[in-house]
Amino acid sequence: MTELEKKGKAALVPSGWDYAPAPESREIVRIDERYGHFVGGEWLEPRETYTTIAPASEEPLAEVGQATPEEVYGAIATAREAFENGWSGLPGSERAKYLFRIARILQERSREFAVLESLNGGKPIKESRDVDLPLAAAHFFYYAGWADKLEYAFPNRRPRPVGVAGQIIPWNFPLLMLAWKIAPALAAGNTVVLKPAETTPLTALLFCDVVRQAELPAGVVNIVTGDGRAGAAIVEGDVDKIAFTGSTEVGKAIQREVAGSGKRLTLELGGKAANIVFDDCALDQAVEGIVNGIYFNQGHVCCAGSRLFVQESIHDDLVEKLKRRMKTLRVGDPLDKNTDIGAINSRAQLEKIQELVAAGEEEGAEIYQPPCKLPERGYWFAPTVFTNVAQSYRIAQEEIFGPVLSVLTFRTPAEAVEKANNTPYGLSAGIWTEKGSRILWMAERLRAGVVWANTFNRFDPASPFGGYKESGFGREGGRHGLEPYLEFEP
Ligand code: NDP
Repeated sequence: MTELEKKGKAALVPSGWDYAPAPESREIVRIDERYGHFVGGEWLEPRETYTTIAPASEEPLAEVGQATPEEVYGAIATAREAFENGWSGLPGSERAKYLFRIARILQERSREFAVLESLNGGKPIKESRDVDLPLAAAHFFYYAGWADKLEYAFPNRRPRPVGVAGQIIPWNFPLLMLAWKIAPALAAGNTVVLKPAETTPLTALLFCDVVRQAELPAGVVNIVTGDGRAGAAIVEGDVDKIAFTGSTEVGKAIQREVAGSGKRLTLELGGKAANIVFDDCALDQAVEGIVNGIYFNQGHVCCAGSRLFVQESIHDDLVEKLKRRMKTLRVGDPLDKNTDIGAINSRAQLEKIQELVAAGEEEGAEIYQPPCKLPERGYWFAPTVFTNVAQSYRIAQEEIFGPVLSVLTFRTPAEAVEKANNTPYGLSAGIWTEKGSRILWMAERLRAGVVWANTFNRFDPASPFGGYKESGFGREGGRHGLEPYLEFEP
């Protein structure tokens, strides 16, 4: 073949790089038509039900119980019985065995859980498969390790469990939040009543099967489903401790409700994290971190890097690179393995995002969304970035909880700290710079529970997580995460 012929052939190579669909099969998951509440190791027929759907298609998936206060109180009484009649007296090494078993079963069934999580919650399968499931199993492994070492974790303090924990979790990381709540509670010797979010109950209900498979004693883990009314009943019920993750508004209401009751409380609430980029950073790496920080899980992340602070000298370069990178993000079917951004979790959340984005445009910020075709059915929102944002704009102040980034600028480290801390929240922050000394200087001054340096959204069960100010109090993860589930003998 002559050189010319070769060139001619090369020209036939297609220049468009569309991805062929790569759907994960739903076959592995069996969804029942109807679910009750899981209490005392049994399924109780619910008095009321509602339909849970797939947000990507609005397809109904199952009928799920809407717990009444009486049903919730019954679950709490069952948990108390299990606490008093066996679980709290079990040696830590025995409790550990159950937790190890749960961790291993989650690993074995991880594909099934990942598919169900993406189906019911809308998040991309590659995230549920590679982040949610491995981390959920890791939490059970980690806390299994502490169960027989509590005396060493808290030397000379004689730890003992507090009793029944009421746990209320949100819809952004349904199974992972369940693991964050249940693993330390059980390791410390408590029993639990947990309520998943109204829109994402299915992986918590599948977890009941894991509990059964692990032969956990009846009543140690109880799951009731339903909307905020069921959550409120847990708070009002005879529980010793409440662990809540969700909005600041509901967190405050819960705090008011339990004030003076003697119930222990930890709150993990909203955030408006600052992701701070200095001009000496590795720019391409920072762009990846920014994308991960805000578009991971459609931005439904309490620690999302939703306020980007860029050093003025690199603003234009960075924004250009960011927009170019955004064009490569694929929005669509959560069960497609190529999808980067899945469905918005619910119509209500979509409306909230739309309202705040409209406010951003109205207040004068400049909007950019890459060209992308959104599916016709279901709840979708294109990845969005706002430039020319003033600190007073709602999009720079309020938690949007969607794939929407606000870009602001700064000149000096001190200015970056001041602007980053100018928020009612204090959950997380990110710093991008080459200088270690600057990272430490910044981290000391940022009022945020977690500060990442040259990375973002890194989680490890050994590392405590929690907030300052309106992001709540108490820590989850690590040895710190055991403490709220223990009381100490004088
Ligand atoms: P909520 O705070 O309402 O939900 C969190 C959990 O609390 C859910 O299980 C919810 O049930 C339950 N709940 C609701 N009302 C009560 C109550 N009065 N007493 C006890 N439990 C209650 O958050 P939303 O789902 O409404 O989301 C609203 C906003 O909150 C989002 O737009 C986002 O900004 C923020 N958010 C922050 C999260 C975080 O991790 N920081 C997580 C989720 C939301 P139900 O699902 O039935 O409402």
